[in-house]
Amino acid sequence: MSGRGENAGSASSEWVTGSAPQRAALVGLVTSSGGRTEAEQSLAELEGLANAAGAEVVLRFLQERPKPDPATFLGSGKVELLRAACDEAGADLIIFDNELTPAQLRNLERETHQPVLDRTQLILDIFARRARTREGQMQVELAQLKYLMPRLVGSSAALSRLGGGIGTRGPGETKLETDRRRIRHRISTITKQIADVKRRRAQLRERRQEGMTPSVALVGYTNAGKTTLFNRLANETAVASNALFVTLDPLIRVVRLAERQEILLSDTVGFIDRLPHGLVAAFRATLEEVTEADLLLHVIDVSNPEHERHIEAVNRVLGEIDAQDVPMLLVFNKWDAVTADERLRLKARAPAAIPLSAQSGEGVDELRQAIMQRLSLETQRVTLEFDEQDESDRQRIARLYRHASVRSHHATEGRVSIEADIPRRLLGRLTAVPVR
Ligand code: GDP
Ligand code: MG
Repeated sequence: MSGRGENAGSASSEWVTGSAPQRAALVGLVTSSGGRTEAEQSLAELEGLANAAGAEVVLRFLQERPKPDPATFLGSGKVELLRAACDEAGADLIIFDNELTPAQLRNLERETHQPVLDRTQLILDIFARRARTREGQMQVELAQLKYLMPRLVGSSAALSRLGGGIGTRGPGETKLETDRRRIRHRISTITKQIADVKRRRAQLRERRQEGMTPSVALVGYTNAGKTTLFNRLANETAVASNALFVTLDPLIRVVRLAERQEILLSDTVGFIDRLPHGLVAAFRATLEEVTEADLLLHVIDVSNPEHERHIEAVNRVLGEIDAQDVPMLLVFNKWDAVTADERLRLKARAPAAIPLSAQSGEGVDELRQAIMQRLSLETQRVTLEFDEQDESDRQRIARLYRHASVRSHHATEGRVSIEADIPRRLLGRLTAVPVR
């Protein structure tokens, strides 16, 4: 079985991998005279998304028009032009920057003789490719089904596309050919399963809190280098023995920063600009890691000229999921790809940010130090006194042995004196008796 859950769709068997990249044409609309820059920026982001989905962009097409044509989105003359341009450029896929109605989608496919996708479908496709947790996969399938449901009316032309290209993964064609009742049934089944997985995740979280291991989540724009940094931190310092988290969630690792200084590190899907609103809700579960983290690492690709805009987009999503108050460290990634001048400018703008290269590993040690500092993982040596006969004191001693580094232990006449190095963040919880 591939990464998808046993009921998470028959689609995985239909996935085609390893084929040549698809050649995509991007289409956008300029609705006002001043809107051109905005439309171009939006199209640049769409290109990033198309690349993330494995397509190569061979054509960009903008039309000025106050509002979309209800039947074909572009004016009919423009559709003809688009078709000719696609032939010329050898495009085999057309991606619209806006959301298309079912009718527009059908008409455009008929008139251009090319598969047509809109922005939402493209984003869903990327999530489908990247979702690795069972919950993430189910959330993606749910969002895909909900999106496709109204598009089932009347025609199956847009949905019966065969092959393994972009936009065809997800709920399989066979499923789409069956009636809407089955889809509704599937939606309710997945919804129940998601609730189940959520409950299990909550239990997992409780265990983490009991363990008092702080959690750190990577956030950042698509392509910022989160997964590269995750792998670097995890591979260099993963605690191999802790299989629990690996099996329950492949996106979480126990990472040891120094002796007795461990964190739970989680990778997340990339945040993007203009995430369609329904999707924010659908992916909330994936983002729970973020809301509940003790620290966020905001990974920024500073070699991208658009990185200021990406930072804003990420902060906006953090606000939407109520994570704006979680402590955050800025990570300036891809430092290797930045000129000396630009480095000076970036350092002046954000002196506290950690410059590094997740790819080469340069600067990653400094990041480890900064994480330890921010989480108060550094230890403080204290001496504590306990009553050996007291049950709650005996429990405190056991906790101390679990979470601190005991230097000496003296027992005389029923009194126990323990000297230990305690992580600062746990001082309050581990030293319920006065510190000498
Ligand atoms: P994610 O979408 O945030 O998870 O980003 P990935 O970790 O998948 O990385 C996106 C791309 O950036 C990949 O092609 C990486 O090889 C590249 N990349 C990541 N870190 C660095 C870095 O430090 N320097 C350079 N030059 N490229 C990097
Ligand atoms: Mg990633």
